[in-house]
Amino acid sequence: MAPMSGFERGRIMSKFADLIEQNIEELAALDSVDAGKLLASGKTVDIPHCLHILRYYAGAADKIHGETLKLAGEYQGYTLLEPIGVVGHIIPWNYPSTMFLMKSSPALAAGCTMVIKPAEQTPLSALFYAHLAKQAGIPDGVINVVNGFGPTAGAALCSHMNVDAISFTGSTETGRLVMEAAAKSNLKTVSLELGGKSPLIIFDDADVDMAVALARIAIFYNKASPLRPTFASFDPGEICVAGSRVYVQEGIYDEFVRKAAESAKSWVVGDPFDPNVQQGPQVDKTQFERVLSYIELGKTEGATLLTGGTRCGDKGYYIEPTIFTDVKEEMRIAQEEIFGPVMSLMKFKTIEEAIEKANATRYGLAAGIVTKDLNTANRVTRSVRAGTIWINCYFAFDPGCPFGGYKMSGFGRDLGMHAINKYLQVKSVVTPLHSSPW
Ligand code: NAD
Repeated sequence: MAPMSGFERGRIMSKFADLIEQNIEELAALDSVDAGKLLASGKTVDIPHCLHILRYYAGAADKIHGETLKLAGEYQGYTLLEPIGVVGHIIPWNYPSTMFLMKSSPALAAGCTMVIKPAEQTPLSALFYAHLAKQAGIPDGVINVVNGFGPTAGAALCSHMNVDAISFTGSTETGRLVMEAAAKSNLKTVSLELGGKSPLIIFDDADVDMAVALARIAIFYNKASPLRPTFASFDPGEICVAGSRVYVQEGIYDEFVRKAAESAKSWVVGDPFDPNVQQGPQVDKTQFERVLSYIELGKTEGATLLTGGTRCGDKGYYIEPTIFTDVKEEMRIAQEEIFGPVMSLMKFKTIEEAIEKANATRYGLAAGIVTKDLNTANRVTRSVRAGTIWINCYFAFDPGCPFGGYKMSGFGRDLGMHAINKYLQVKSVVTPLHSSPW
């Protein structure tokens, strides 16, 4: 059978997107049931973003091409970009739909087949996406979903001799195991999107109210929906790029602390199916207990608990939005990924100090800068080692904007045209210009 053309792949991917759009309600509900994600947020923010990603790559599928090469001597060459083969996608639980489509869409555009292993906490929406993919006309065997646990199903993919590439999103600790398994088996290519401890740096010249709002967005993920602009959805901090370290310059520090506390106390935590709720529960008991244990650790390390710090109610895995002040760089709450609604506030004097502190972790996923001064923004942008820098914004994601980490936040990029390269091989073809060049 002749390989399917890029144009045809794009056409089927567009149909897949249309079917997802028709089933938004069910898909969002599955993520709410599995991960505790706010239903309203899924319908109006997360899944529309997934559609944008899928349609972006549907449009890219027939625009993948190599180069012509002018070679020395009597030769000419060109490159063919070929699908890398079978891809294993291993994804976490925090954004089940986004992760599914962020991984599968560029791989489909590249012409690969794939095995997707969702996180054990969130197995449901992936099965529905696979069902819709089949309905759209994606041939059998192209998208395969295998639910299971990490050390068994995930590890089997990583060490499989017939899997050509692994695209992994999850914790830094598991990322190491993925690389190790790839090295010990067939040296498959690996890309890793791992944890983070991202800094948000707020300078004295910032508008304090705007800075407080951005800090809230950065840790609690408040994304106004384009479809429902008055609705603000909060996430309980289960976000790899969460701006969990907030550095505020000394001139506005006290005002910022006061306003940040007032803001945190105002949000409504509760049932993710309730349209008035702004922050849902942590994903499961393990994460819930982990976050609470970090809050206890912060107190014993000597940080000051400004607000929050306990569970909400006595049922479910709800945690109050929590802010610590007087946090020091060496504290574990400033170094380790908490993956919960916990913000650490720190004061700085100079731009040099802010840059040094921002870089003082093993992670390098994202960073935010709040300032009106272009020179300050430019200088910090070039000095902070992170894969994404947001200036006077946070969580501004777009399918066209590459996403990934520096340092122990991983390597390789999702999104943008860069992501397609992860799923392609480059074949060089050389041919003489004349019949007997030698
Ligand atoms: P995790 O590493 O425990 O699990 C992620 C996935 O890996 C799951 O599907 C799991 O089953 C699988 N897995 C576990 N052990 C495995 C093994 N030995 N071999 C192969 N696969 C295995 O992470 P998590 O707790 O599910 O997710 C939270 C982490 O993910 C956080 O650290 C967060 O920062 C990170 N994350 C990163 C990004 C990013 O883009 N950088 C995005 C979202 C989440």
